[in-house]
Amino acid sequence: MEHSNFNHSLLSFLKDSPTPFHATDSMRNALTDAGFIELFEEQSWVIDEGGKYFVTRNESSIIAFTTPQIDFHQTGWRMVGAHTDSPCLKLKPNAHVQRHGYHQLGVEVYGGALLHTWLDRDLSIAGRVSFKNQEGSIVSCLVDFKDPIAVVPNLAIHLNRQANEAFSVNPQTEILPILCGAENEFDLQVLLKTQVEKQHPDAQVATILDFELSLYDTQAPALVGLHQEYICSARLDNLLSCFVGLQALVDSDMQRPSLLICTDHEEIGSLSACGANGPFLDDVLRRLSPNPERYVQAMQRSMLVSADNAHALHPNYASKHDANHAPMINKGAVIKVNANQRYATNSETSSIYRDIAAEEDYTVQSFVVRSDMACGSTIGPITSGEIGVPTIDIGLPTFGMHSIRELAGSHDAHGLYKVLARFMKRGKLITR
Ligand code: ZN
Repeated sequence: MEHSNFNHSLLSFLKDSPTPFHATDSMRNALTDAGFIELFEEQSWVIDEGGKYFVTRNESSIIAFTTPQIDFHQTGWRMVGAHTDSPCLKLKPNAHVQRHGYHQLGVEVYGGALLHTWLDRDLSIAGRVSFKNQEGSIVSCLVDFKDPIAVVPNLAIHLNRQANEAFSVNPQTEILPILCGAENEFDLQVLLKTQVEKQHPDAQVATILDFELSLYDTQAPALVGLHQEYICSARLDNLLSCFVGLQALVDSDMQRPSLLICTDHEEIGSLSACGANGPFLDDVLRRLSPNPERYVQAMQRSMLVSADNAHALHPNYASKHDANHAPMINKGAVIKVNANQRYATNSETSSIYRDIAAEEDYTVQSFVVRSDMACGSTIGPITSGEIGVPTIDIGLPTFGMHSIRELAGSHDAHGLYKVLARFMKRGKLITR
């Protein structure tokens, strides 16, 4: 896909994907449009040579793969991994709070959200609602209010003179969004029933049973900067990588068995039925390779590129980086290395990646956290530890990770897409 079309599609994907459920649905639609066939885990699978397939779990994680006419035990898989979730505010089960003349929502903080960035934003609500229908079946559907229906106003500086020196947000008492004045009637069950029926006219809702809803910023993703060299958006960590991997797979020409995995719950450690620290990928790969010996052969001939954002050097906070490992925005994807295996990169996987990037004329940067600071982590070491696949952790340089509005380079994503598409066509990875 050509560069400006790519960025245009990326912005649409980000806008259409306010939750992991919606991100998975966006990918399902794109894959279906590209001729991929949906598989269901509870059914028997018939996998054809030359086929393209995908499967979801919990509607919030997805695996898509191609099976060219080639023995994948001999070639291994070309895998790309990313995550569908981002830090946010999630509604508590009994979310309605009425205090001091306002209807508000009780929320839990999901993941390591940069909480103060949620103040003074025009917020909406989206997620999954489960209900009993008129036939007595329990079903679920996705909702997205789209309109800015909630806001968490800041406290005036006159009432907090220390705000510019030391600012903290209490997640129990100070981050509750306001919906409306208490003079209005408010019933969350009625609100959800109305919204489900509005978006799904055939749903025949009898009773709303439960929900997983989160708040999100309604400000649309945008290209910014004097030369539009930046992308500003919510959830760049890590929907940016999901989109890049998706496009690479869709545009790969089926030369090598290729696989994309995008999982939920990375921001809270990945341990769940659908998370990278759960059995989802292993379950899928074992259905494709039922013979245990051949499964191991396939894994050891495979490679996983785990793509998650990297911290770019911020000009206002340059001392936060090791001077020799300070990635720049729009200077290419970053290979992430950590001696303590917080990243799974090793010298062989990074060599393979460097070689492929060079073939695309795409620059490579390196990141190592300062030795006196703690290192983050991602799905790379977890997936590698689960299935034994050689792995590299990479990511696009980003400012403000876990802010409600993050910033990445508008030239970086398309370059990585070309590298990953080339990776998915790559023959032999390494000679042993
Ligand atoms: Zn991430």
